[in-house]
Amino acid sequence: MIVMKFGGTSVEDAAAIGRLVSIVRRELSRQPLIVVSAMGKTTNRLLACAQLAAEGKREDAHNELAAIAQHHFNAAEELASSDHSAELSASLELRFAEVRSYLDDIVAEGRLTPRLSDSVAANGELLSSLIVDAALRANGINSLWTDVRPMMRTSNAFTRARVEFETATPRLLAGFGPILANAGVPVTQGFIGADSDGATTTIGRGGSDYSGAIIGAALDADEIEIWTDVDGIMTTDPQLVPEAAKVSLISFAEAAELAYFGAKVLHPSTLLPAIAKEIPVSVRNSRRPELSGTRIVRTAPLSRALVKAIAFKRGITIVNVTSDRMLMAYGFLSRLFEVFARHQTAVDMVSTSEVSVSVTLDDTHRLEGIISELRELGEVSVESDQALICLVGEQLKFTPGVAARIFSSIEGVNVSMISHGASAINVSFVVAGDQVEEAVLALHREFFHEGHEVHEGNEALGVLRVLRGSS
Ligand code: ASP
Ligand code: MG
Repeated sequence: MIVMKFGGTSVEDAAAIGRLVSIVRRELSRQPLIVVSAMGKTTNRLLACAQLAAEGKREDAHNELAAIAQHHFNAAEELASSDHSAELSASLELRFAEVRSYLDDIVAEGRLTPRLSDSVAANGELLSSLIVDAALRANGINSLWTDVRPMMRTSNAFTRARVEFETATPRLLAGFGPILANAGVPVTQGFIGADSDGATTTIGRGGSDYSGAIIGAALDADEIEIWTDVDGIMTTDPQLVPEAAKVSLISFAEAAELAYFGAKVLHPSTLLPAIAKEIPVSVRNSRRPELSGTRIVRTAPLSRALVKAIAFKRGITIVNVTSDRMLMAYGFLSRLFEVFARHQTAVDMVSTSEVSVSVTLDDTHRLEGIISELRELGEVSVESDQALICLVGEQLKFTPGVAARIFSSIEGVNVSMISHGASAINVSFVVAGDQVEEAVLALHREFFHEGHEVHEGNEALGVLRVLRGSS
């Protein structure tokens, strides 16, 4: 069997769901199980309703909900067959009645509890899956809407519940196995679950990929397909480098590095349950299903390409701390990092010398507080408007001389921090923000333009919006 997960843009309206139906139809012989996100933007909109209710704006909340309902009923009307349309409308109406009563509960409480937030937000996936199921049936596909909540057992940490695999795995297998065995196509929800009391939970924003991976791992899927609105993982951001090409095959470790350094296609950590069972994951574009997308595998066969992709992040800030107290002292770095931890600020890159430490930050919300505490440790200076560039490739760890090649290709660019671990599959460095374009263009030319470095099997490039895409 395979898991086909469709993100918000791939179910955003009747046209998108129509494309989904033809994509699923082609895979019927592989026993697909369909996992869907909420229709594009619905989760945000439902949460906005809940927020309005919390502020006591009952009427505004109900009006916004009515607009969301209209969007769903429009799609439903276009997609359901005439025999099922009344049944579908009734199911959708039941969900909206439930959300209306939650909104009134929130108004009564005068605040939005995480529990009520989840009860409201979960309806995005419950609604979209009802419509997708009806659309499949209207096209003669033997689909079966299945509520994932009784199977997807989680903790009760509402809005960021943790999946309890020991309970969820056997339940997913027992729930979906028989449907698949009877040639049914289960249609279920990403993002949501329930705690041991049966209360609805969500597993964190953007959690549907994770749901897809968990279900795929539980059922030992042959493959997990993540259908989104981009062609796959690209050699770099095509908005900056039009020649950027799709990467056909990438290892999990490479994809994880790219995500960490700014690629927005998907968060590979959400694929861990699948990767641990060696289930390949592919990222596909539901608007261009003829493309094969990017396959993410546990260990990619070594390719001739030295560099798989180049990611970059703008708006980076460097914080330097210089202190002679560091000399021969222990515990200094731990005190320094405690400052960032106390301010809940993640550090991306670190470089140290005998008397100085430089770190890069993405999030500078709490920079003032951080600086004033760091001043107790040493002299502090800050450089804003920097950019982080990261080259990723499993081959980097085996190839001598690559650093020379990287830095000579960007000779005119001033590089301020460099990081490359001994077994690392990435080389990362910082440049001034206004030099990032020049640097990325030069690097892409150096590593990808010679043809032989581009991956075998790359499809046509087209107009792609990838490293910065959304799901
Ligand atoms: N609908 C949820 C969200 O917008 C989950 C997802 O799309 O993955 O966060
Ligand atoms: Mg999404």
